[in-house]
Amino acid sequence: MRKATIVENLNAVGERIVTCCNNCDRDPAEITLLAVSKTRPAEDLRIAYAAGQRHFGENYLQEALEKQDALQDLDIHWHFIGPLQSNKSRAVAERFDWMHTVDRLKIAQRLSSQRPANLAPLNICLQVKIDNEQSKSGIAPQDLETLAREVVQLPGLRLRGLMAIPAARQNVQEQYEPFAEMARLLQSLQELFPDEALDTLSMGMSADMEAAIACGATIVRIGTDIFGARNYSE
Ligand SMILES: *Cc1c(COP(=O)(O)O)cnc(C)c1O
Repeated sequence: MRKATIVENLNAVGERIVTCCNNCDRDPAEITLLAVSKTRPAEDLRIAYAAGQRHFGENYLQEALEKQDALQDLDIHWHFIGPLQSNKSRAVAERFDWMHTVDRLKIAQRLSSQRPANLAPLNICLQVKIDNEQSKSGIAPQDLETLAREVVQLPGLRLRGLMAIPAARQNVQEQYEPFAEMARLLQSLQELFPDEALDTLSMGMSADMEAAIACGATIVRIGTDIFGARNYSE
């Protein structure tokens, strides 16, 4: 996409975050904008980086690794936000700062044991299947505590919070429901694990960012509104 467009879009999203925070009495500094760059060429990430963007989210491992190679000279915080087969976990453990989609113990154990000792523990969000859709990945809310109890024991990981991709909803009022439920789930985890750095709610995309922020999102994952529409929907 054209450079000017990406920069304008980034600025517009930043302004939306500030406006939204003003409306719901939050500090914009609490919100990290994660630029979701799946399907975008490395050059688009470089443009966003030059405009100040530091956190990038990728869904497809092979594509992500190629971009990481092409952008080695930049100080990017890489977030993996796609589904991950357990036999592909090593590259995520070695080359990312965050992993948002942990939903089973096996993946967590592999990521922990594969995390290189010279790196800080990998930041983890547990993905919650907040709408009970059969097709979606994520752990059921009632199984969250059991998984969290295991994950906090793993030395290569740092449990930071929860992530969700709610089903699309028609209006903003309906968007609040799953996000508010996520906030309640995070709060109960914070009470169970007061010594953990459970400060993260990864939720909100281009179409529902405002509702997510109003409910407590700390990382919003924005693709379309920064880089434009993709050729296919995700
Ligand atoms: C693609 C994707 C996004 C970004 O979605 P947009 O609607 O393009 O903002 C956010 N989170 C995840 C997990 C995604 O796969």
